Amino acid sequence: MTKALETDRGRRLATRAVHGGIVADPLAGAVMPPIYQTSTYVQAGLGRHRGYEYARTHNPTREALERSVAGLEGGRHGFAFASGLAAADATMKLLSAGDHVVCGENVYGGTHRQMTHIWARLGLAFTFVDGGDLDAVRSAVQPQTRMIFAETPTNPMMRLCDLEATAEIARAAGARLVVDNTFATPCFQRPLELGADVVLHSTTKYLNGHSDMVGGMLVTSDDDLATRLAFLQNSSGGVPGPFDCWLALRGVKTLPLRMRAHDANGRRIAEWLTRHPRARQVYYPGLPSHPQHDLACRQMSGFGGMISVELGDEAYARLVVERTKVFALAESLGGVESLIGHPASMTHASVPPDLRRKMGLTNSLIRLSVGIEDPEDLIEDLDQALSGN
Ligand SMILES: *Cc1c(COP(=O)(O)O)cnc(C)c1O
Repeated sequence: MTKALETDRGRRLATRAVHGGIVADPLAGAVMPPIYQTSTYVQAGLGRHRGYEYARTHNPTREALERSVAGLEGGRHGFAFASGLAAADATMKLLSAGDHVVCGENVYGGTHRQMTHIWARLGLAFTFVDGGDLDAVRSAVQPQTRMIFAETPTNPMMRLCDLEATAEIARAAGARLVVDNTFATPCFQRPLELGADVVLHSTTKYLNGHSDMVGGMLVTSDDDLATRLAFLQNSSGGVPGPFDCWLALRGVKTLPLRMRAHDANGRRIAEWLTRHPRARQVYYPGLPSHPQHDLACRQMSGFGGMISVELGDEAYARLVVERTKVFALAESLGGVESLIGHPASMTHASVPPDLRRKMGLTNSLIRLSVGIEDPEDLIEDLDQALSGN
């Protein structure tokens, strides 16, 4: 662990978001870490350098982001990747052919596609279960199980996985627990504190928060895992460029502020939707009607801005997502601007239809990523989009 991370430890989240991982700039005292747009570094003599030889291996801007996010998750080591899926790819490379993974069936569609189309072909075995059903997770464990991969809340069904109990199952099995914390962010949920070994982020989403870059992160407190992840990051080479790291670092500084606004708007709109006659079902962990609301209150300190709504009719659902004016019809989530989408044909099109049906992801489900605009405008927009046929 670096000295900057040691200093951060005693500080609270909003302070860490602003100052975490930032070290004094020796040249000019720049408050914001400079964008080190360089591929290589001059060496004073053979074998004599300042710890920087080549930018795939080390880059100061990337390291500032890695320290910042590691600190927010309460971890000792952070690793930045070119995308969330490149981060997922690195976790799979901790395993070897013949190893088995228990994975939540409702994980991000791209994660599921990578596992089933790439890693299964290369010799890893997967069992997909409802991560919210601890008995199902427990009975899926085999002697070869080396990893449990969880995402909570899930996209788009907003199902929760009990992280403390799942970490217990992983420990008993001698397996690692990897948690995709993209939806909750360290503002509302810190998996490492609940027993997870590795936390994964698509920094593309809330961490950066401004829909202007693609990136991923892994955080761990395990020194041995960190050594292996550093090796994989450098050897597979899926690293982000310094400009994208700088954008994400700038985004992270306002994460607590933004998450408070996403959460307030999310709660307000979810509650409003439960009273709307056209919304058959509203999926949001902050609603008392959510089947895992108690777990949500125990495990999370906020619920964020992701809401899914069952509209009961596919043609109507398609019309609604095309009728909003403030909510933009787009893939992705977690930015300051509100987005609306149709998971079955957009984000989750790569998930096989029978699996989609099994998890309740119908063709008439829509998903909202509630931004930080004025909630009155968002509600008016949804109201006009939901009216008519
Ligand atoms: C977007 C997303 C990913 C993949 O991240 P990319 O940055 O798009 O590669 C993984 N998990 C979750 C929950 C996501 O929303």
